[in-house]
Amino acid sequence: MKKIGVLTSGGDAPGMNAAIRAVVRKAIFHGIEVYGIYNGYQGLMEGNIEKLEIGSVGDIIQRGGTMLYSARSEKFKTEEGQKVAIEQLNKFGIEGLIVIGGDGSFQGAVKLTEKGYPCIGVPGTIDNDIPGTDFTIGFDTALNTIIDAIDKIRDTATSHERTYVIEVMGRDAGDLALWAGLADGAESILIPEKPHDFDMVIDRLKRGHERGKKHSIIVLAEGVGKGMDLGEKIQESTAMETRVTVLGHIQRGGRPTGQDRVLASRLGAKAVDLLMEGKAGRMVGIQNNELVDHEITQVLTHKHELDMNMVNLANELSI
Ligand code: ATP
Repeated sequence: MKKIGVLTSGGDAPGMNAAIRAVVRKAIFHGIEVYGIYNGYQGLMEGNIEKLEIGSVGDIIQRGGTMLYSARSEKFKTEEGQKVAIEQLNKFGIEGLIVIGGDGSFQGAVKLTEKGYPCIGVPGTIDNDIPGTDFTIGFDTALNTIIDAIDKIRDTATSHERTYVIEVMGRDAGDLALWAGLADGAESILIPEKPHDFDMVIDRLKRGHERGKKHSIIVLAEGVGKGMDLGEKIQESTAMETRVTVLGHIQRGGRPTGQDRVLASRLGAKAVDLLMEGKAGRMVGIQNNELVDHEITQVLTHKHELDMNMVNLANELSI
């Protein structure tokens, strides 16, 4: 393989730049030319493609977002869109493609691979919702952003003796809520993977209040429902002063943590290895701190599993 392409697609995640850098540097190290495709599959169909050099990816390892930008494209989901994309890849002589993104982006990679065009997926999303890898690029940074925000909110919660509901991202996955709730000693953590008992949430709040707690933090995953609704219900049931903070898009940006930079570097380089070995339609991941790779079609037919031991631990520690 002499020429490969790289693109980022779907929601951006901190560490995507470090992954792009790893792909470019690793490929050039092995004498392979790398083409950056801007704006995801949309840019691919439009031929928004440029050769990247060693220096093209300098000074980006510490930046959030993605230097290749990202886009969502409905047209690429069609046969016609995929045909145009392959024509562009052929025009540039690109023989293999590395797709950094979430499960939607991987579906696109599967379509191209089925049409005889080798693609490798690199899991990049803050949600940590992709099976076949313990962690996705961006999760650790988003987790630390949430922890930082909750630490700040906690100061006000204590000063004013308030209950705070914090709504965090994660789509249908509860990982961000669970990890942040555990790291921040939340009274209750509400996640989509486990039905919650509202009466128990209220009981906990009341018990804490009775033993003199000055603040209460409840972390709610967006996949469960709206923070505002939960806040209103709590206020009605307890008469405690309750405030709601929806953290929103601050969770998606910012400098990647060391953990995410290293993970992205390892996964990006591994993706190049797989293309050099002639592999296609596979996703790289990390399991028990070992680099692994799985069929993307397998990844897409499985469901990400949350660690239920951690759910139990959070319950035990927030008595
Ligand atoms: P995140 O979970 O972080 O939002 P994602 O990769 O799941 O990331 P999506 O918006 O679902 O984000 O997908 C990104 C792009 O991948 C879509 O805009 C589309 O171009 C392409 N894509 C998604 N599903 C398919 C599909 N079934 N076939 C071909 N392409 C697809």
